[in-house]
Amino acid sequence: MKRIVLILTLFLAVSACKVNPFTGQKTLNFYPNSQIFPMAFAQYDQFLGENKVVEGTSEAHMITRVGQRISSAAERWLAANGYPGYLNDYKWEYNLVKDETVNAWCMPGGKIVFYTGILPICQGETGVAVVMGHEVAHALADHGAQRMSAGTLQQIGAVAGNIAIQDPEKRNMFNQAYGVGSQLGVMLPFSRSHETEADRIGLQIMAIAGYDPYEAAELWKRMKAQSGGQAPPEFMSTHPSNDTRINNLTAWAPEAAAEAAKFGVTSFK
Ligand SMILES: [Zn+2]
Repeated sequence: MKRIVLILTLFLAVSACKVNPFTGQKTLNFYPNSQIFPMAFAQYDQFLGENKVVEGTSEAHMITRVGQRISSAAERWLAANGYPGYLNDYKWEYNLVKDETVNAWCMPGGKIVFYTGILPICQGETGVAVVMGHEVAHALADHGAQRMSAGTLQQIGAVAGNIAIQDPEKRNMFNQAYGVGSQLGVMLPFSRSHETEADRIGLQIMAIAGYDPYEAAELWKRMKAQSGGQAPPEFMSTHPSNDTRINNLTAWAPEAAAEAAKFGVTSFK
């Protein structure tokens, strides 16, 4: 069994380098979409089945509306930059769950969840677009898969290809890599470089989607204010808000606005 895992690991390592279209850099990723997406879709459905999905409210409609605009912007950006069809195997879905946790995430293949607990910090559609752009950027750049790839090699063979992950510990590892959270373990933080990358990509996507990129820094200021005091909620423990992030977003806003202008977007809602 150990030898099979080793061979599988070596095979995966050879095919593990993938160029990130947003940065042009090669990244370590053991998981092709064809392997990771079925797992993600199954975990997503399981999550929705175990949580209270909000339907038919103005807030639920807002999550869908922002999600459609963000995903469409990502597709337009990729097509314009030489990656038409890059998201063809994505199956976008946007759900709001009733849960006071401050959290939001996007699983591989475009499976998004917002928790009602993050909405007061978003303060409306533009704030939702900031968070959604950022989370979608993590998915587009395969940060979760890289996070798993950087994990214990032994476990990779055990999880890869296992569509319905029955073992709670393995499922927990998968979910942690995508920020889904669970009572079983401590959340894995994204690395600072992944956070910075997601901030920059997310900012451009939200601007192309027609949302004011100058509002992104304001959202993270509110996150920072919220995280003061007690133990930080899950989203803040994986997304530590700091002055560097806020300064970066402020500095990059004109660049994002200029990018949006290339797509004919010159005013923001
Ligand atoms: Zn992040």
